[in-house]
Amino acid sequence: KEILIKVENLKKYFKVGRREILKAVDDVTFNIYRGETLGLVGESGCGKTTCGRTIIGLYDATDGSVIFDNMDVHKIKGKKKKEIKKRAQIILQDPYASLNPRMTAGDIIGEGIDAHKIYIGKQKTNRIYELLNLVGLNEEHVSRFPHEFSGGQRQRIGIARALAVEPEFIVCDEPISALDVSIQAQIINLLIKLQKEFNLTYLFIAHDLSMVKHISDRVGVMYLGNLVELASSEELYKKPLHPYTQALLSAIPGMNAWNKTNKKRIKLEGEVPSPINPEPGCRFVSRCKLAKPICYQKIPQFREIQKNHFVACHLF
Ligand code: SF4
Repeated sequence: KEILIKVENLKKYFKVGRREILKAVDDVTFNIYRGETLGLVGESGCGKTTCGRTIIGLYDATDGSVIFDNMDVHKIKGKKKKEIKKRAQIILQDPYASLNPRMTAGDIIGEGIDAHKIYIGKQKTNRIYELLNLVGLNEEHVSRFPHEFSGGQRQRIGIARALAVEPEFIVCDEPISALDVSIQAQIINLLIKLQKEFNLTYLFIAHDLSMVKHISDRVGVMYLGNLVELASSEELYKKPLHPYTQALLSAIPGMNAWNKTNKKRIKLEGEVPSPINPEPGCRFVSRCKLAKPICYQKIPQFREIQKNHFVACHLF
């Protein structure tokens, strides 16, 4: 498998107030392979969106690096930077908030084509029609405004906008969370179809493991700025190792093999603690029923416990 993106010890901190630091992404390391869908899951505030945005350079990195096809996303400048902007795109959660209400669907989709001067004139118009068709809309939609579309259609426009510049990699940032359940599967199927057609690589962000199951080849689980587990989908849903992943899975009734053998629901008590000035030790310690003394002192390393199965927990 070819590595498309190498994320190494990536950190993204935000200053909050005078002295406080919000460690949104704190020392995260993983690869994204060309053509795969990597699901990234965690409760809100765990840093998954910040991670996705930092990977494609929408945010500067505080430390660490992201190597996209041999280019350091946070160091390159000029032409190369523009190249990354074209090759890596994002689809956002709320298509309504992310589409300019005063622009037509055609203009929204055409913006990137103009910015990167991919097509002009008649060719551009044809390309916009082609994109509308690709996402299940048609030429009649070109001059309509966002409010004239349903939620699912708006997300289709968001997808066409991302596709317009012919990217290789797309961060799908909770693209179905804001949609009706009946529409969610349609959008997932569309993303799968487009991936096959254009050999796309996805980082698919969601807050719930059940949402990423059908689309992901591998799944990573984040908790409070850390990646705590990463494995193939099959492995993760059958044999989750991290206590947090186990708790997340046990909350989804009858979804996986692991649930069937471990019928007891592991209740996650309390909220995710604040990522501002976190305590030393394992970030999950305040909610972990299996915590040992060392968990309060030392951050567990993210290590390959079994082949292609990474976990950060002192139990292993
Ligand atoms: Fe629980 Fe300790 Fe593992 Fe953290 S390191 S998940 S506190 S057992």
